[in-house]
Amino acid sequence: MIEKTFQYESYIVLLGRNSYDLSMEKFDLLERYFGHKTFRPLQEEVIDTILLSRDVLMILPTGGGKSLCYQLPSLMMEGVTVVVSPLLALMYDQVAALRANDITAAMLSSMQDLEESAEIERQLQRAEIKLLYVAPERLTNPWFLQLLHRLKINFFVIDEAHCVSEWGHEFRESYRQLSLLKEQFPTIPVAAFTATATTAVEKDIAEQLRLQDPLRVRGSIFRSNLTIRAEHRIKDGRAQLLEFLKTEKGNAGIIYTLSRKSTESIAYFLQGKGINAAPYHAGMPTEEKNRIYGDFVADRIQIVVATIAFGMGIDKSNIRFVVHMTLPKTVENFYQEIGRSGRDGLAAETLLLFSAQDVVQQKMFIDDLPETPYKAHAYRKLESMVRFAQGENCRHQSIANYFDDRIDVCEEKCDNCLQPEVKRIDITTASRKLLSAIYRTRQNFGLHYVIDVLRGSKEKRILDNGHDTLSVYNIGEEYSKAQWLTIADRLLELGAVEIGEFKVYHLTDFGAEVIRGEQTIELREDRLKVKKSVSKQQSSYTGDYDAALFERFRDLRREIAQDNNIPPYIVFSDKTLKDLSIKLPASREEMLEVHGIGEVKYERYGEEFLELIQELV
Ligand code: ADP
Repeated sequence: MIEKTFQYESYIVLLGRNSYDLSMEKFDLLERYFGHKTFRPLQEEVIDTILLSRDVLMILPTGGGKSLCYQLPSLMMEGVTVVVSPLLALMYDQVAALRANDITAAMLSSMQDLEESAEIERQLQRAEIKLLYVAPERLTNPWFLQLLHRLKINFFVIDEAHCVSEWGHEFRESYRQLSLLKEQFPTIPVAAFTATATTAVEKDIAEQLRLQDPLRVRGSIFRSNLTIRAEHRIKDGRAQLLEFLKTEKGNAGIIYTLSRKSTESIAYFLQGKGINAAPYHAGMPTEEKNRIYGDFVADRIQIVVATIAFGMGIDKSNIRFVVHMTLPKTVENFYQEIGRSGRDGLAAETLLLFSAQDVVQQKMFIDDLPETPYKAHAYRKLESMVRFAQGENCRHQSIANYFDDRIDVCEEKCDNCLQPEVKRIDITTASRKLLSAIYRTRQNFGLHYVIDVLRGSKEKRILDNGHDTLSVYNIGEEYSKAQWLTIADRLLELGAVEIGEFKVYHLTDFGAEVIRGEQTIELREDRLKVKKSVSKQQSSYTGDYDAALFERFRDLRREIAQDNNIPPYIVFSDKTLKDLSIKLPASREEMLEVHGIGEVKYERYGEEFLELIQELV
């Protein structure tokens, strides 16, 4: 860490300003352009280090406030800051947000035509652009490098820096080339930012980017506004999903599922229930995808049901929930996906539905990979994810441990902390019945069939096969089909059965021991309850403000956004609207006290909101 005195003296030398002025300037910019009154932990340290021209590697969870760390110092410097970002949508949103705050920003990507690019180039040469966003591919373009050499560059920013590392979860080949920045521009500092990196990935990022003695800043991984729940999926999980959505009326959310087909079937299922949902997957026409993305960001679609193709880099701050219908591949994926909710710092809910069958399926995907060291790595990552899902310790703490961060248990922000005392019941007898039924039907049938035999179904196929004469026929009425599926899932989890080709269940040696009565099997009692999703402690918006006013503000925000052709959250965040409905400002001065409203935002939208407040109260 750098000593503060050293920092301030260096400022004087570097920038010809004294420490008092600098501090004032930082706070002034913070308030004027970003509408915030104080820095969050770590932000100031990173800003100071950037101003000192030292490399930085910052790991801070999504929503932690990384962008400010490079945007604010850029305003204090003369030149242009070049930001490398992996996704067009992300760049687009950042540029729109900066422009809404009167900061000159531009992006160079495949989205611009030649004429537009040429105009941006001219503006760059006239030093009219403070922040330039570019895709990593640009940096290998000789023409572009030549242009950069002619400019006064403040520093380079590498956003989503984990994409540099093969050990991360979103490795991008084009990020590898970023090492050329230090080769071509050895004196220009590089600041790298990511939300997710284990210590191994962190080390790799520093090496790959050739950072020189970077200030390493690691914020707590703990997202205290997210509630994390994980439940065994019952059947297809739709009943659990509907139960969950009951308390999310009108709130924006993402539902992740594994296959393209299921994005569609779940979205149509929700539509049938009167819920404003749409599917999104990589196989859809680009136009359709853009439309859905745009409608979601503009609050015209409430829920997007998507494969993981959706959401990376999405900068919509008011996503109130994320549901996973199946188990993600890695804890990194999971954390990043749930991290898309609650970026505005308000409460958000997350629900993971999983089953032992998901694990089998994910393993099959990995089995098909070529034999490289990555394969073993992928199995290990999956195992960690499974341990997390099945785990009974604090969820936040488990995630923090995974990322080598240490935190106390959350106490009230995850299902395990909210219901620490779970009773276990002995299901050995039921397990023996199910395993015997699998065995008696010659390990030749799918699970549903076997359960139907156990429950005495008169289905033609069962009668034709003569399975109504088996000793296991009709001995399983004490449980519903859903409960038997849960018992089977437990047996799969414990390795008493395996799934073979055509989804046929086989006994393992351990399964045979269970049948012989040599093993006991236990299950958390709550898993057998024909249960609804654990009731939520609090809905996202409760208590201290008027929800009806919030709705009116939301409507006005949507109108302004539509008129200006920008996403609503760029006008004001949910947090700002909430604060508005608590403070109900009656003047410009009072308005400037509201979270997220600085002078620039006030000048643009303040009056309209003041008028609405006068009308309403
Ligand atoms: P990240 O890039 O780390 O995911 P962002 O930079 O998008 O996070 O910031 C997330 C949210 O936090 C934004 O709504 C932003 O306005 C808010 N924020 C950032 N810095 C501050 C601050 N110092 N005070 C209050 N809110 C802040």
